Amino acid sequence: MILSDFVEKVPLIGPQNKRLLERLEIRTIKDLLYHFPSRYQDFSRIVKISEMVGGETATVFGTLTSVKNIFTHGGKNFVKAILEDETGQLPLIWFNQPYLSRAIHRGDKIGVSGLLGFFSDRPAMTSPEYEILKDGLAPIHIGRHVPIYPETSGISSKWLRSRINVVINSLDDITETLPSKAITEENFLDLKTALKQIHFPDSQLLLDQARRRFAFEELFELSLKTTLRKAAWQRQVLAKKLDVSEVVRQKLDSFISSLPFKLTSAQNRVTEEILSDLSKTEPMNRLLEGDVGSGKTVVAAIAAYAAALNGANVLYMAPTEILAKQHYETFKALFAELDVNVNLITGGQRTEHRGQMAENRKQIFIGTHALLFRQNFDHVGLVIIDEQHRFGVEQRAKLLEKSCTKGVPHLLTMTATPIPRSLHLVLMGDLDISVIDEMPLGRKPVKTWVVPKEKRADALEWLKNLKQQAFIVCPFIEESEVETLQAVKAAKKEFEHMQKILSPLRLGLLHGKLKPAEKDKVVQNFRDGQLDVLVSTPVVEVGVDIPNATVMIIEGAERFGLASLHQLRGRVGRAGQQAYCLLFTSDENGNESRLKSLETNYNGANLAEIDLKYRGAGDIFGTMQHGLVKFKLADLSDIELTNKTRRWASEIVKNVDAYPEMKTVVKDYENYFRHLKRS
Ligand code: ADP
Ligand code: MG
Repeated sequence: MILSDFVEKVPLIGPQNKRLLERLEIRTIKDLLYHFPSRYQDFSRIVKISEMVGGETATVFGTLTSVKNIFTHGGKNFVKAILEDETGQLPLIWFNQPYLSRAIHRGDKIGVSGLLGFFSDRPAMTSPEYEILKDGLAPIHIGRHVPIYPETSGISSKWLRSRINVVINSLDDITETLPSKAITEENFLDLKTALKQIHFPDSQLLLDQARRRFAFEELFELSLKTTLRKAAWQRQVLAKKLDVSEVVRQKLDSFISSLPFKLTSAQNRVTEEILSDLSKTEPMNRLLEGDVGSGKTVVAAIAAYAAALNGANVLYMAPTEILAKQHYETFKALFAELDVNVNLITGGQRTEHRGQMAENRKQIFIGTHALLFRQNFDHVGLVIIDEQHRFGVEQRAKLLEKSCTKGVPHLLTMTATPIPRSLHLVLMGDLDISVIDEMPLGRKPVKTWVVPKEKRADALEWLKNLKQQAFIVCPFIEESEVETLQAVKAAKKEFEHMQKILSPLRLGLLHGKLKPAEKDKVVQNFRDGQLDVLVSTPVVEVGVDIPNATVMIIEGAERFGLASLHQLRGRVGRAGQQAYCLLFTSDENGNESRLKSLETNYNGANLAEIDLKYRGAGDIFGTMQHGLVKFKLADLSDIELTNKTRRWASEIVKNVDAYPEMKTVVKDYENYFRHLKRS
C-alpha cells in the first residue's frame, strides 16, 4: 500500500464503507492516516483483578471462564461473562448486545478496559471495551491510550482504529513530506513514526512530538505553497504596464493636493509603496491594511487614478451594495473634474456600460459581486478588492480572471481586519503588505465602556439624553458570511424592543434581507439625520461612513472578537467629534477582562494579538480563513512554530537544489500555479 492508493485497497473496506468514508473526506490511504484522533481515552492503567478499586478505570487481562446470553423475565437481555486471572474473577456485563455471545467464547484470552462498578451488588465491569488477544500483536482498543476519532454514522472509532492499524502495519516505504534537514535540526519524528504515534501513542511525550510534527507539516505546506504562489504570480505577464513617471506623477500630485484634506504620513507612505509596485513589470499583489476610518479609500482612489492616467480600466469590488454605492459616490466626487468615468455595477442596478467603454478607456467600475457576472473586462490595469476577507478565494480569482484577457492586472486588496504580523507570512505569504497605522488628524479615540446587565437601563437613558446619532449592533447568531433568517429575526426583535425603550427617538432597521432600495433609504435617512438610531445586524455594512454618528452600542459584545469590535467602533466619531462605544454583555464567564482591553487599547493589531491569546486563532480567523485552509493541528498562536515553518519554506524555495527530496513537491506546486494562471 502507498499513500496515494484509494481506501478500497485496505482489507475490509468495500464500496459501502468507501461511500461512508467520503463523508469524512477520506478517499485515499493518506486521508485515512491523516484522519487524526480528536482525543484519546486513557486505558493505560493495567492491573490484576485483585488490585481493582471501585470507581476507577483500568485494564485487566485474563481468560474467559464463562459467557452467557441472559434474557430476563422483563424482556431485557444482557451478556454476562466471567474473566479470570491468577488473582481472582471479574464479572463482565454487556446490555443489549446479544451478538457478543458469538464474538467471545469461553477459553478466549482477552483484555478489557473500563470502569469498575457494581452489578447485582457485586463488583463488576459494565459495558467494558474488550479485545481478543492475538499472539505477538499489541492490543489497540484497550490497555493503552485509545484513539477516539471524528465519526460519522456507520463509521465508528473502533472500526477506524482497526483499519488504520492495519494500514500502519502494512505501509511499505513512505515518502517523507518534510525536508530531512528540518527533521534533524528541529528534532521532528519521521513520518512513519509520527503516524504510528499520533494514532497509537506509546507515551504522552511521543504523542506530543507527533502532534508537533504534524502541526509543523501543515503550516510548512501552506508556507511553501504561498511562497511558490508568490513567485508564480510575479512571473506573470502584466496586462498593461503602467507608467507613473513625470507627467503622470504631476497629475497625481495635483490630484492629491486637491483633496479636501491632507494625507496622513501613513497614507503617503502606503501610496508610495503602491505607486512603486504599479510601475514595476511584475504584477502587484498587495494587501492594504488599516483600521476602519484610517482612510484606505482615498489611497485606492489615487492608485485608480494612476491606472486611469495610463488609459487603463479599473475594477473595484466591495462586499455590499451600500459600500459599493458609497465608494461610487466618493469616487464620483473625487473625479468630477477629471477625465475619468466612474460606473456603478450592482445586482440591483442594471445599466450596461459596455458601449461607453469601447470609446473611452478610462473607466472605473465600482461594484459588488455583480462584477463577477459581467462579461470580461478589457484593458484592466488595476483590480481593487475592498474588505477582501469578505470574499472567498474563488470570487477573488474569478474577478481576476474576468480582467485577465491579456495577462494579469495589478491587484490591490484592502482590509480592516488586522492580522498579527507573526501570522501574516504563513497565512498570506504571497502578499506584500502595506499598513496605515495612523488615523487622520483630529480624530479622537472612541471612549469605550463595557456595560454589564445591571447598568444597561442607565446607559440607554444616557443615550436618550445625549441627542446624538447612534448605531445599535445585534449580537452574532452564528459566525457565517451569509446572514441567516434567524439573525434578521433577532434584529427585528431588538428593533421593536428598542423602539419602546428609546421612544421618542426615531429608529431605523438595517439587515441583509432588505431590498437594496430599502437599504439605501434607511442609510440615507440616517445620514440625513432623519433617524436617530440605526439598529443593524453585525454582518452588514462594515465600512459604512456616516460622519455624524457618535455612539456605537454593541449587544452581546462577548460574542465578537476584539478586532471586530474595534472595527465596529471605528464607524463612529468620523467627523472628529468625541464618540462613544458601549459594549453590552450578557454573560459572566470571564469575558469582561478581554472586553475591557478595548477601554484602554486603540490599536487594531494589538487587539488582534490579545484576542489570539484569549481565544486562540481559530475564532479570530474563522471568517478570515473562509476559503483558505482549515488546520487540524496547527495552532496559529504558536508563534515560534509558525516562524519556523516560514523560515524553512523560504529556505527551500531559495535553494531547492540543496533539498533534492523536496524537488518533486516544489515542481508539482509550480506546475499547479502555472496552470492556475492560465485560467
Ligand atoms: P477606511 O480605511 O475605513 O476605508 P475611509 O477611506 O472610509 O476609511 O475614510 C474614512 C473617512 O476619513 C472618510 O470620510 C474620508 O474622507 C476621511 N479621510 C480619509 N483620509 C483622511 C485624512 N488624511 N484626513 C482627514 N480625513 C480623512
Ligand atoms: Mg473602507
